[in-house]
This record gives sequence, structure tokens and C-alpha cells, in this order.
Amino acid sequence: MLTPLKDCLKDLLTTLCCPRCKREIERCPRQGPFCLACWQRFALPARGLHGICPYRWMAAGWYEGDLRNLILQLRCHPDRRLLHALTEGLGAALPNDAVLVPIPGWKAESRSNPLPLMICRSLQRTTRSLLKRSRPTVGQHHLNRQQRMTNQRGSFVVEPGVAISRAVLSTQEKAPELWLVDDILTSGATALAAMDALNVRRMTVSGVICLGRTPLGRTR
Ligand SMILES: [Zn+2]
Repeated sequence: MLTPLKDCLKDLLTTLCCPRCKREIERCPRQGPFCLACWQRFALPARGLHGICPYRWMAAGWYEGDLRNLILQLRCHPDRRLLHALTEGLGAALPNDAVLVPIPGWKAESRSNPLPLMICRSLQRTTRSLLKRSRPTVGQHHLNRQQRMTNQRGSFVVEPGVAISRAVLSTQEKAPELWLVDDILTSGATALAAMDALNVRRMTVSGVICLGRTPLGRTR
């Protein structure tokens, strides 16, 4: 009677399947945890994408095509295993003692985007929810870069009452790197406003980590 259960457990422990299409796979380091077809579809570099404009950033891939659709789908239907797979390359590029700060949305918690905090958890680094929105902002889809800057300016504050550990203050020698985390990076206006709020409290941000970076030239 226990045999089917044992077989089932054995399968779970020994069979690898692609976190996207669930097809059985043999793990290949080049493809990360994905099957060849999904890896090609999402075009994920092994250690993520890296850039320095408008500040230092890391992304799992470009926010376009199938990866864009997947990120939008994950906002509504978060999937921990899939997120873990998408962030594997980013985790490999991030210092072990990095401190992550998720960028909060302005909607009520029950309707807010769960991805920034879930990405932090996937990356398995110390996470500090230091920020909150000081006012609502408008949807940015149709705004150009300047309008986005104006929309976001002053829209974050450091959570009142948050005891800021000396370990995240930039005045400390060898302070760990502080990274902001969001799901999508487009013009950079949102993260810039978040950085400003942290700078006011003497915290310097090393950069921004996201799942999808809008291709340069389309960042409005
Ligand atoms: Zn697949």
C-alpha cells in the first residue's frame, strides 16, 4: 500500500522538471533550472544583465517578449519556484552580505504588487523593509521620463520608527551593500525617489535589482 506513495516521493526527489513548462529535464548549468526551450524563450544570461545607467542595476533579463509576459503574469499569480529560477543568476552575482530593500507600491497591502518582497526572499539575503510611500503616484505607463521623475519625486520616506542598524549606514567602514529591489526597471524614476529617501537617512544605495529591465532606448 505504501509503495505508490514511496514511488511518488522518489519521483519528487529525483526528477527535475522545468519550473515554467513542467517538462522533465536534465539540468544543464548553462540553462539554469529551465529546459532548453524556456531558457531560449526568456533569453536569460547566466549571471543576469548588468548596467550603470541611470545607476548601477542588475536584471534577470530584458523586459520584453516572453519574459515581459511572464513577469506580468507573476504579479497576479506569484510562483515561488519560478521566481527562484528567474533570480538564480542574480543571486550568483550578489555579495552574500548584501542587504535588500524592497520598493513598496502605493496600493493597500492586499492589492499591492507582491513581487519585490518575493524577489528578496528568493535571493536569500538579509531583507529590510525600510521604505513606505508618503503619497500615491499615478500609473506611469503613458508618462515620459521627465513626467515620471516628477510623479515619483518625494513619494517615499523611511518607515518611521524603523531602527536603522548601524550595519546599513554608509558612514560605517565596510558597510554591506544596500540594494533596492523591484520587479521592473524602466526610466529609473521610482528607484531614484527611493534612493533619495534613504540618502536623507545617511544610507547609500549600491544599485537596483529587478527581474526585467526595459531595453535601453525604450526607457522613455
Ligand atoms: Zn520549460
